[in-house]
Amino acid sequence: MSHNPEKVISPFFDLLVCPKCLEKGYVSNNFFICSVCNQKFKIIDGVPIFIDNSREYVDKRENTNPTNPYPQKVIDLAVKNPNALILDFGAGCPRKEHLFNNILRLDAFHYQNTCCFN
Ligand SMILES: [Zn+2]
Repeated sequence: MSHNPEKVISPFFDLLVCPKCLEKGYVSNNFFICSVCNQKFKIIDGVPIFIDNSREYVDKRENTNPTNPYPQKVIDLAVKNPNALILDFGAGCPRKEHLFNNILRLDAFHYQNTCCFN
């Protein structure tokens, strides 16, 4: 297991909001806590887990095989627009060379490079 317990929370943290009330939150003791409704969401390996039922959590961090490869159009979009933010629903486990800093990787499985789990 090579997960980094000190991993910084998602670089997109400032964009994250509570899925219940859409308000900003803060981090405390490995939880994302909504500033308004106080709902708590666990943070695992730096990734906020936005689900109600922990039985729905699927840990795929050990998976090293790339999944869901980006089409060339998406790669071009990410490279040519480095300041644009791209949201990738169902990001899977991209190839290492496709871990662009301007793509927020959201997935229902927690892969090594998932930014947000929902
Ligand atoms: Zn809330």
